Amino acid sequence: MDRLTSDGEIYARLKAGDMSACRECVQQHSDELFRLANRMLQDEQAAEDVVQDTFLNAFKGLEHFDGRSTLGTWLFRITYNNALMRLRARKPVETLDGDTDLDEKTLTLAVPWREMPEAVVAQGETAAQLQATIDALPAGLRAVFQLRDVEERSTAETAEILDLTESAVKVRLHRARMLLRSRLSGYFGERVESPPMTMSCEQLMPYLSEYIDNAVDEPLATAARDHIAQCPHCHIMLDTTQRTITLMRQNKAQVIPAADRAELYQEIQKAFAARRKQSNKTKPAA
Ligand SMILES: [Zn+2]
Repeated sequence: MDRLTSDGEIYARLKAGDMSACRECVQQHSDELFRLANRMLQDEQAAEDVVQDTFLNAFKGLEHFDGRSTLGTWLFRITYNNALMRLRARKPVETLDGDTDLDEKTLTLAVPWREMPEAVVAQGETAAQLQATIDALPAGLRAVFQLRDVEERSTAETAEILDLTESAVKVRLHRARMLLRSRLSGYFGERVESPPMTMSCEQLMPYLSEYIDNAVDEPLATAARDHIAQCPHCHIMLDTTQRTITLMRQNKAQVIPAADRAELYQEIQKAFAARRKQSNKTKPAA
């Protein structure tokens, strides 16, 4: 609960016009905001602009923060909306959640991955491959995956940031994971004949993501566990999906370059100082 406490404290100090709180807020949140913006826009310069706009919007509109969510959630939401606006301006017709439904191929391609230490994998060529794989998802799926599996935000928080229902978040997360897993299997997978899917595999499939998140209730959870234990197809599906999430999480080290960060911070600081001056002016003299 550290995040909650320190976010609340930072917010109180921000409202009081505390300059050091402005710095802490930017330090604490800018990289995760940048990762979300960059994930959506696939353009580092544009993502930095979005982060800057986000802090400017936030500091200008501190009054609009109602405290129902954490400061971090609120900043994520502003970032998402700013990125969305740019995305729509760029490609007005892009469907955010994509029409790429789980097709036959996604479901049937369950091949085991070559053994490899995940820690070494997220480097060089492989890191680029992971990046390309996630970048190929529709923007709406990218945002859900980024928040849930990379930034490890809850379903409820992700729903609030993206203005979606929790069940829509779950559906999109499942689609994102399945698509990523399938595409990475083309890269990491070993060619082996997998047994044809049975009816019960198909019944399990819609719950696989929730099963991974331990969000399946009994008796379905037991049935799923039993099925996975004796079905090589679903065992591989589960294993490679879990490894997909691990890989993507390890590969999140995108940060704003130091020089850009300094410049970004200067701009934000200027705006924050201007805001403080403004609110001092309107305050009655003590
Ligand atoms: Zn199965």
